[in-house]
Amino acid sequence: MTGEKTRGTSLEKLWKLDDPELTTPKHDALVLSLLNWDYTKNLLSLDDEEFLISIKSEVPITTGRDFIVGYADLVLHTARWGMRDFNSAILFTCPHCGDVFRFRRGDSGYYSKVVCLKCGKDVCNIDNKESMNGILHQPLRYPCLVVTQFIIECKPTIRSFGETLRQIKTYRQYITDNSLFDNSLSVYGLKDKSKYPKCEMKRNDYSYSSYHNSPDKRYWIILSPDVEYSDAFANEDITLISPTI
Ligand SMILES: [Zn+2]
Repeated sequence: MTGEKTRGTSLEKLWKLDDPELTTPKHDALVLSLLNWDYTKNLLSLDDEEFLISIKSEVPITTGRDFIVGYADLVLHTARWGMRDFNSAILFTCPHCGDVFRFRRGDSGYYSKVVCLKCGKDVCNIDNKESMNGILHQPLRYPCLVVTQFIIECKPTIRSFGETLRQIKTYRQYITDNSLFDNSLSVYGLKDKSKYPKCEMKRNDYSYSSYHNSPDKRYWIILSPDVEYSDAFANEDITLISPTI
């Protein structure tokens, strides 16, 4: 562990990514303010449907296994319930020949008409729910979690636009979809389900939540009272937000 840390630190210095403001009380105050979910939720303009999964600070960003490129000040995972199309095969029973077959959305180039693979007759029209009564074994859409990851850098002042941009671009270069992903999300969605709001759709809610090993959306955020370069950051898909306390 000690070796890793030393290598990581020297690499950060090599790329001039070490941040002298990291240890200032002002920096700490910005980071700590974000640990208050109500405050952060407002700051990020999230609505009441979005719920918090985790807030982690000083999260290492690594090049695969070995080198630490830097530490993200804060990594936040939030989620909301959404609906997703079944993207794998859907099971039908043919009303004509009784054959049970799998229809894969998009296989035939069109979606609406399902044709039996055995007898060739029309089975149903996916756009017409009544035509599917009794022959469809799964819902076409199912509730799923939509997970958002926020990677937040706290800057009491922005000494240099270029330097800050380089830091975030370096993180962006090395981050992999699952490298920062929070382990509290598992194959069946959330491990500790009781902590989170339920989906309105009652059909076996949680077993239909999607498998996650990476976020659905990711946002890069700078929290700084120094708004001089906010337009320039916006051009790079980085949102600069000013603290309100
Ligand atoms: Zn048939």
